[in-house]
Amino acid sequence: MYMGNQREIIRRFLYENQAEMISLWKRIVDINSGTPNKRGTDEVCAVLAAEMKKSGIQVKIIEEEENGNTLVGTWNPGSTEKPVIFMGHMDTVFNEQTENGKFRIQNGKAYGHGVLDMKGGLVISIYVCRALQECGYCGRPVKFVFAGDEETAHSGGKTAETMENEIRGSCAAFNFETGDIQDGIVVGRLGAGVFTIETRGVAAHSGNNPADGKNALEAMARKIVELQNLNDIENGKLMNVAVIQAGEKTNIIPERCVAKGCFRFKTKEAYKELKQKILQICETVSVPGTQGVYISESKIECMEPSRENYRLFRLMESVAEETGYGPIHAKEVGGGSDSNIPASLGIPTVCGVGVRGEYNHTEREYAVVDSMAARCELIVNTILRLDELE
Ligand SMILES: [Zn+2]
Repeated sequence: MYMGNQREIIRRFLYENQAEMISLWKRIVDINSGTPNKRGTDEVCAVLAAEMKKSGIQVKIIEEEENGNTLVGTWNPGSTEKPVIFMGHMDTVFNEQTENGKFRIQNGKAYGHGVLDMKGGLVISIYVCRALQECGYCGRPVKFVFAGDEETAHSGGKTAETMENEIRGSCAAFNFETGDIQDGIVVGRLGAGVFTIETRGVAAHSGNNPADGKNALEAMARKIVELQNLNDIENGKLMNVAVIQAGEKTNIIPERCVAKGCFRFKTKEAYKELKQKILQICETVSVPGTQGVYISESKIECMEPSRENYRLFRLMESVAEETGYGPIHAKEVGGGSDSNIPASLGIPTVCGVGVRGEYNHTEREYAVVDSMAARCELIVNTILRLDELE
């Protein structure tokens, strides 16, 4: 049952705990947790695990060999309802601790490595749970799933698998990633594939035996034109051939050419179509006597802008209006995050619900201090109305 006075309790709780929230924020920003720094990332994990335990959240730390550990916390595990997922990552892109990386506040803005991406969001998620406890909520379980190696797409570890297993069967997922300064809430993210292709021809002296040579560079050039033509921005298909290597001397017909590129896709369907066409272009002989070979690909899944995601967004939007948070809007972006994991399981997912700010992944990164309590309040009130989703 959702009651008006719960809102008052939540607001007061967040107001009274603002200083404590900021001090936890400072504590974890001041620990360097660049992805390769397993020690630092695990230290952030330990601090958050201790905070969770203080609030009666059951904690499980899943050890990773090389990468940062994964933190899983469950509150209200006795409930028979489907859990709500709070996602995040504890690593940052900053591999070195510098003075500029330390937490500080100037004119209402917080600075420091990972302050926006996404240590502020981690703090919010814990206080959302505490505020729910404060107002007597005892509906769904809340499950935290924090990765220690998100910025390198979990490569070389089992985190993605762990996350998928922990998230499966939940009713909604909130990813407390970098919040948009303009209050855009992310409902879709493009997936990406990085590929390498090679053309093979026959080397020959370009003056003495021109007819013997099969120019691999020309073959690739023709393929590149076709690959670039796959760009269809409106339908969420992007192609960028970006690196090319071929040839040694101007009097030798090049026998080998390697090209690398990246394609992006909005849906799984778009991925299939793009991949099929890339293979086709690669295999079709573009210069007689040459051959094209698809060498490799690494892939980040897309977060499809599904009806489910939009439903969760609409609920948040209505809460934002009703509680005086102000207008929010749905946004689809190019870059990836872990939100593809719940989204591809069909779970209503919103991303970028952490502190608001700008310039993540750079030294200029900052977050708006007041957005911490405001976003916290917005998510708590959304969870109190989550039954409307079903
Ligand atoms: Zn992030």
